Amino acid sequence: MPALKLSQGENYGGLSFPVSQIEGGAVVMLITLVILAHRCYCSVHAFQSPTTAYASRRPPALTTQLYAINNAKEEYWDVIVVGSGIGGLSAASLCAKYGLRTLCVEAHDHPGGVAHSFERRSSTSDRPFVFDSGPSLLSGMSSKGTNPLRQVLDAIGTSDSINWVTYNGWMIYDTACPIDDTRSKFRLTTGNDGTWEKAIEEKAGIDSANEFIKFKQQMMCHNGLSESSTLIPPMALRGDFGAIVTMSSYLLKFLKIGTKGQLLTGAFTKSMDKYKLHDKFNRKWFDYLAFALSGLDAAHTQAAPVAYTMIDLHKEGAVLDYPLGGLDSLIQALVQGLTMKRHDDVAGGELRLKSRVERFLLTDDDGKAKCTGVQLSDGTKLHARSGVICNAPLWNMAKLLEDSIVMEDLLVDENKSEDVVSSAVKEVRKQANAMEMSGSFMHIHLGIPSDGLPLDLDCHHSVLNLDDDITDEQNLVIVSIPTIFDPTLAPEGYHVIHAYTAASENFAEWDNKLDLGYDDGKIAEPTDYKRTQQYKELKNQKTEALWKALERIIPDVRERASRKGSVVEIGTPLTHRRFNRRYRGTYGPAPSDGKDVWDLPGPKTPIVGLLACGDTTFPGELIYLYFSIAQCCGHHFTPCVFHITLLTSCYKILTRDWLTGSRSLWHNCCKYISRSQCPTKLNG
Ligand SMILES: Cc1cc2nc3c(=O)[nH]c(=O)nc-3n(C[C@H](O)[C@H](O)[C@H](O)COP(=O)(O)OP(=O)(O)OC[C@H]3O[C@@H](n4cnc5c(N)ncnc54)[C@H](O)[C@@H]3O)c2cc1C
Repeated sequence: MPALKLSQGENYGGLSFPVSQIEGGAVVMLITLVILAHRCYCSVHAFQSPTTAYASRRPPALTTQLYAINNAKEEYWDVIVVGSGIGGLSAASLCAKYGLRTLCVEAHDHPGGVAHSFERRSSTSDRPFVFDSGPSLLSGMSSKGTNPLRQVLDAIGTSDSINWVTYNGWMIYDTACPIDDTRSKFRLTTGNDGTWEKAIEEKAGIDSANEFIKFKQQMMCHNGLSESSTLIPPMALRGDFGAIVTMSSYLLKFLKIGTKGQLLTGAFTKSMDKYKLHDKFNRKWFDYLAFALSGLDAAHTQAAPVAYTMIDLHKEGAVLDYPLGGLDSLIQALVQGLTMKRHDDVAGGELRLKSRVERFLLTDDDGKAKCTGVQLSDGTKLHARSGVICNAPLWNMAKLLEDSIVMEDLLVDENKSEDVVSSAVKEVRKQANAMEMSGSFMHIHLGIPSDGLPLDLDCHHSVLNLDDDITDEQNLVIVSIPTIFDPTLAPEGYHVIHAYTAASENFAEWDNKLDLGYDDGKIAEPTDYKRTQQYKELKNQKTEALWKALERIIPDVRERASRKGSVVEIGTPLTHRRFNRRYRGTYGPAPSDGKDVWDLPGPKTPIVGLLACGDTTFPGELIYLYFSIAQCCGHHFTPCVFHITLLTSCYKILTRDWLTGSRSLWHNCCKYISRSQCPTKLNG
C-alpha cells in the first residue's frame, strides 16, 4: 500500500510530481502553467501590497474611515457575522484578511460557541480549572494539509500561535463485557504499524483483524475512496460563479473521482458492503466511528467523512492533535486573525461579546428580499455594506428572521415589501422545519485530585455497550482528561475531566421545563427551571450514566469528586441549549432516511446579502469537515482574484494541483485510449 501523506502540505493529495515525466502532449499543459504562474505572480504581488490592491477597488475614503462609532446606536461595517462559533470566526477572520471591516457579534460572554472554554475555581486554590465545553478530539491540525480549519489558520496567518501536542490514540471500554474481562477494554492506536490490528485480534479474533486489514487496504489504496475524499481542498470552494475559476484546477480531479463519487456521497454501509466488511465487530466499530463523527450510525453517515477519517487515523505516522491551553487557544487564534492590524495599520475586524442579535434588517430591494444588517438586543443597529453571515443554527436563524418581519418599521413599503420579504423568510422556515436534528447532551465537568492515578492514563476514552445500538440513548459516553497533556489547565495536583453523552439525549424530556413548554428557537435570558425539584431530579437521574462510565476509567471518581478542592459542574440539554444557543440543545442536523448531507443547505439563503455558515450547512457537524462553508462565506464578499491569491500564497495549491491533476488525467487518457501504446514512463 502506498504511503499516503495527505496531511502534509508539500504532498497534497499524496501525489508527487516529477517534472521530468512530462512528455509530448504535456507541452500544452506547460504553456497553460506559464500563463497561470504569471497570473499567480501578479496576484501574489497584488496581495502582498494590500493598500495598492484595494485602492483600485474601493474608494480610499473607505479604507481610512472609522466605521464603528463607539457607543452610537448606528454603526456601519462591511460585513457583520452573527455568532462566534468556529464557523463564524473562520468566516469573519477570512473577511478581515481580505481587508473587509468585519464585526463579529456574539451573544455569550465567551467566544467559540459549542467549542468555548470556561473557568471555575475551587475553595482551595487561586488557580482556576479550565474546561473545554465541547470538542477535544482533533486531527490534521498540527501540520499544513487538507484540514479546512487548519487551512483557515494558515490563510489568516495565526497557525503558529498554537502549540499542538500530538498523541496516538484513545481507549475504548465495552460495557457489554464484565469489567474483569480483558476484552472489556482496548485501545485504538493511530498509524499503520499493526498495533490497532493486533488490538482487534485480541478483542474480536484473527478473522476480524484480517478482514479489517483487507478493508483498510481497499479504502486507502492509491485512487481509493479515502484518497478521493481529500481531492478537492475546501479552501478553493466559493458559493458563487467565481468557483469556476478557483475550482478550475480541480475539475480534472473530479474526473478522477469518477464513479467513486456515488459511493463517497452515499451511506458508509454501502462502502462496507462493496468491500465485503461483514464481521460483527468491524461493522460495530464503524457504527461507532460514524456516530462519533456525525451523531448517526454508519447507515446514516456519508462515506466521505468516514473515509477521510480512516486516513487521519491509519496513515503512516498518523497522530491526533490537542492544543496546549485547551480549545480556547484555537478560538483565540481565530479571534487574533479577525482583530489583527492589517491594512493601513487598522484592525481588520472586531469581536463583540454579550451582543445578542435580536433581528435582521430586511428590506425589499427591487423585488428581492435583502438583508442590510442586524439589530442587537440593546437596540444598536449594525449596517453591513457587503452582507451578513449568520453562524447561528438554521432553526435559530429562521426564528430571528421571523422576528425581523413582525417589526413593521422595517418595511418601507408595507404592501409591496411584506410579500417579498416574508415569502423569503417562509422559505427559510420551511428549510429549517424539514431538517431533522440529532439529540442533545448531558455534560459533567470535574476537577479532581490526580494523586495515585496511573501516569500513563490516556486523555481520551469512549465508554459504550458494543452489543447495543450505538444510537441508543446514553449508550456512548465520551471522556477527555486534557490535563494529561497540559497540567496548567488545573491547580497543581488536579485533573480536569469532561464527560458527555454523545448527542443521544432526548430533548423532549426537558421541553416542559421551558417557560413556553417548548423551544421556539429564540434563546433569550435564562428561565427559572433550575430551581424546580423536577429539574433537579431529572438532572441527577441522567447524570448517573456519566458517573458509571467514568468509574470504568477511574473507579473511585465519585470519592475524588467529593473531596475538598474538587469541582463538579453538571450540564443538561437545557444548559447546552442556553449557553451555546443551540435549538433544542442539538448536536446538529441529522439527515433522515434516503437523505444525506448533500441535502443540507449551502451558504446561500433566499435573502440577498445574508449567508449562512456553521454546522447546519453542508456537510454538517465536525470541526474539520464543515468549515468549507465558513470558508465559502469568507471568500464570498471578495473578488475571485484575491481568493486565488490566498490559495497560491498559502498553499501553492493551484499550481501544484494543476500539475498533479493534469498528469493524472493524461495518465488515465493514455491508459484508456491504448494501454499498449501509452508511453511507459507515464505509467510509472
Ligand atoms: C460536546 C461536543 C463535542 C464535540 N466534539 C467534537 C470533536 O471532538 N471533534 C470535532 O471535530 N467536532 C466535535 N464537535 C462538533 C463541533 O464542535 C461543532 O460542530 C462546531 O464547533 C460547531 O460550530 P459552529 O460555528 O457551527 O456553531 P456554534 O458553535 O453553535 O456557534 C454558533 C454561535 O452563534 C452564537 N449565536 C447564536 N444566536 C445568536 C444571536 N442571536 N446573537 C449572537 N450570537 C448568536 C452562539 O452563541 C454561538 O456562539 C463536538 C460538539 C459538541 C457539542
